[in-house]
Amino acid sequence: MASAIENSPLHLPPLEEVARIIEEGLAKNFKVAKVEVIECPDLTQAPFGLVGRGLGGSPRLADVGGPPYLIPVVKKEKVYDIATVAKNIDLQDAFIVGAGAGPFPYVGTNSEMMANVLTGEKLCNGTRISKLSDCQAGHVVEQLPTAETGCALLANLFASKGEPGTVLHVKAQLRTGDQNFVSCMREALRDHYGKKPVGVGGTFLMAKGSAKCHVMPDFSTTPLNSDDEVANWLRFFEMPAPMVFLSTFVSHDPGLDLRVEHSHGFGSAHGGHYHYDTTPNSVEYEGYFNLAEYIYRIDRPQTTHNIGRD
Ligand SMILES: [Zn+2]
Repeated sequence: MASAIENSPLHLPPLEEVARIIEEGLAKNFKVAKVEVIECPDLTQAPFGLVGRGLGGSPRLADVGGPPYLIPVVKKEKVYDIATVAKNIDLQDAFIVGAGAGPFPYVGTNSEMMANVLTGEKLCNGTRISKLSDCQAGHVVEQLPTAETGCALLANLFASKGEPGTVLHVKAQLRTGDQNFVSCMREALRDHYGKKPVGVGGTFLMAKGSAKCHVMPDFSTTPLNSDDEVANWLRFFEMPAPMVFLSTFVSHDPGLDLRVEHSHGFGSAHGGHYHYDTTPNSVEYEGYFNLAEYIYRIDRPQTTHNIGRD
């Protein structure tokens, strides 16, 4: 499918400087906050178990489609393929992680996608989707088959060559403020760097506690015209640790109509879109993140709005 592709360089401060700024931000919202620059551990190992080893080598972000393709009314022609996205962002053999909507033509219904793919010659697909169970009372998580690298409507992805290299090692425990883990990091960067956009992607473990997450049901049969209507349509679940999240965030939108943060995660039998932890007195996060050199904007909606971006 031919779709418009724009790209823009991101501000790339030294990792040590970013570590200090994020640590200061987290310390205002968590009792324990520590950010160090280290060699990325092998992310294929427990507790992460991702398909790529590291977050290094031409790191970049891709913002694909957007909420206007879901809201107010679904545009079912908006289907994408992560393998094609890899080519679109000039990184054919990529390790791609992130959050988006699952491939409804394959899944048979709307779903949350936890992207975790090696594209190209070493194709390996650890992507999971989360959808409502047949009785609609709960939800189920499934891993997609290797060849199914599709997604739909919207996706926020971090891509690299999956190489080792230095990353931010972020630890935050015992929440004392009311910000979620990701917003806290993003807003610390926004407050420091202002209109210079800093883009970040990677993975984090919620090792203790639980999180409020949503799972999208099948497409709404009536238009969703406000955040309240979207919230009434979504299904919310309190999901227990341990959960592995795949995450992207950008400190400032340089005029590309971005979703500035998006994180999806999964546990042994649950998964969905991260809102915040519900257990300030016990929550523990540990994450590995890298800075992106570029943001690619793929198939940006012509008409846009701000509904459904929480
Ligand atoms: Zn989401």
